[in-house]
Amino acid sequence: MAKEKTCDVIGCDEPSVKTVSRKKAEKIFHLKGKGTKVHLCKEHYKEFKKKTKKERQMERIGWV
Ligand SMILES: [Zn+2]
Repeated sequence: MAKEKTCDVIGCDEPSVKTVSRKKAEKIFHLKGKGTKVHLCKEHYKEFKKKTKKERQMERIGWV
């Protein structure tokens, strides 16, 4: 049986619910492991979505 994937944020051992691009995630979190994809738990994914959304909004109105 495969071991359940856990969150790739350092210090977090929650089960992962989503996989996101490391490029984006590493701007927000300190990550463990390597590779181009990172696994995030529910809470960290929520935070990831919130932060990346803000970034996209700023791009749209020309702050970035
Ligand atoms: Zn986590």
